[in-house]
Amino acid sequence: MATIKRDYYEVLSVERTATGDEIKRAYRKKAIEFHPDRNPDNPEAEDSFKECSEAYTILSDADKRTRYDRLGHEGMGGPGAAGFDPVDLGSMAEILEGLFGDVIGGRRRRGRNARDLAYDLDISFVEAATGVEKDITVTRPAPCDTCSGSGAAAGTTPTTCEACRGRGTVRQQRGFFSTARPCTSCNGSGKKIDKPCKPCRGAGMVPKDVELTVRIPAGVENGAVRTVRGEGEQTAEGKGDLHVTVRIADHPLFTREGADIHCMVPISFPQAVLGAQVEVPTLEAKVKMKVPPGTQSGRTFRLRGKGIPVFGGAGKGDQLVQVMVEVPEKINRTQRKLIEELAAEMGIETHPQQSSFLEKLKALFD
Ligand SMILES: [Zn+2]
Ligand SMILES: [Zn+2]
Repeated sequence: MATIKRDYYEVLSVERTATGDEIKRAYRKKAIEFHPDRNPDNPEAEDSFKECSEAYTILSDADKRTRYDRLGHEGMGGPGAAGFDPVDLGSMAEILEGLFGDVIGGRRRRGRNARDLAYDLDISFVEAATGVEKDITVTRPAPCDTCSGSGAAAGTTPTTCEACRGRGTVRQQRGFFSTARPCTSCNGSGKKIDKPCKPCRGAGMVPKDVELTVRIPAGVENGAVRTVRGEGEQTAEGKGDLHVTVRIADHPLFTREGADIHCMVPISFPQAVLGAQVEVPTLEAKVKMKVPPGTQSGRTFRLRGKGIPVFGGAGKGDQLVQVMVEVPEKINRTQRKLIEELAAEMGIETHPQQSSFLEKLKALFD
């Protein structure tokens, strides 16, 4: 393990001002990414996982966080003194359930060996706003059909593994972490196979593609995780869950702030002066929006209820339309002549803001 510790906030990629919830969310994301279950035999991922877990342990505790903010790593006085308990690298389900029971929730009956799986689901901005059902194909380990998951060739049966006494795991002390590692003699199955089944090479498990429909509710936020129960790894002992992380694509015209949608609409100088009906895109359709005469560049109009359904709540957000007055960059000779005439005709009195500005300027320097 590295002797120079990285800043805990940097480890979790959060601001120093992050709220408890933000820290929790950031850790959850990293825990899923680096979890040893998802990164078998990857010591780098394991180190990252431990690093994040340690950072989370400190930053999620108000007292420890205050102390860390004031004194940095020195203030923590080494792993033991900091009260950072060794982390048992449990299954992803345990990690998620222990820390994020409020998010994942519920109780599950599942085998020890059935692992959870993760899936990244890309959806469009509009799909996130309106909700969508997506068909996905997940490749997951499932019992081999030929040997019904036993791993033994037809007519033979597996015997109990002596190295782990059929338990499937051996405990190991690594640094200050106590880890449960799958038994290497039997690959965690607890059983010894003398004559392996051919299709699964004795593993008892084969990757199988399964088609699932995932329902994404309207108003879902980028990075939200939907858990589909029992659709993770399938073993004889039970079923893991599938954690679907929603990734929302950018929209060419809209940006989002919670349930509100923002968009920018360019208008011309004559439209700003005279007023106009302009076409504005909304989630559902184009609508006509009235721009009153004398509209300043940058003014924002609110289209009530044209936003995104409030997630987990009632009602919808609004759409905020900001108009920008576009100044022509290239004009021809006729246009130039007309604008020069217009400039001569429009005195300072037609520009109250400019005239008041000039007066203040005058008062300051004359
Ligand atoms: Zn088999
Ligand atoms: Zn064993």
